[in-house]
Amino acid sequence: MTLNHKIVSEFSLEDTSFLIVKFSGTLDEKIDLSFVLEQIATKHLIIDTRGLDKINSLGVSAWLDFMDVLNEKQISIYFVHCSYELILQKGIIDNFIPKSSNSFLLSFHLALCCDDCQANKIHEFTALDVKNLPPNSIPEVMCGQCGSFMECDEIESQFYNAFIDLKRSLVLGGLIEPLLAI
Ligand SMILES: [Zn+2]
Repeated sequence: MTLNHKIVSEFSLEDTSFLIVKFSGTLDEKIDLSFVLEQIATKHLIIDTRGLDKINSLGVSAWLDFMDVLNEKQISIYFVHCSYELILQKGIIDNFIPKSSNSFLLSFHLALCCDDCQANKIHEFTALDVKNLPPNSIPEVMCGQCGSFMECDEIESQFYNAFIDLKRSLVLGGLIEPLLAI
């Protein structure tokens, strides 16, 4: 399956217009992201990748080029419902979700497992989960089956930066909840 996209019409929030783009399928060399640039009439882009389930190496470089163009055009990017695949990639290339001051990570999915009962699940973490957390800690998720705390399948340090990015997005304040509701 190749990359599918769906432009969801613009919507307005607190006098700001956003363009929402949803991605699903495989991010590969066939990717052509120019349609986003053609349609974007605003400086605010919401990227929802919850359906993106594969990324190959050529897709990685196309994506990084796309991020560069958005950055050059000074478009603010809001990443919502980032898929586990995308966060895995960010664990390898931290800049996969740009570190610029107008790039915001609002939520992402991680695979968690329970050491006690072997339950697995994909859990979505949001910026709201890190709101009241002390520095250097990550939110705890309880196992629905046995009540133990769940662990991340991958090396946790790899994802540590993603939690720092969530925390950085708290500057968006009242915008966070409506953006997460998309
Ligand atoms: Zn358990």
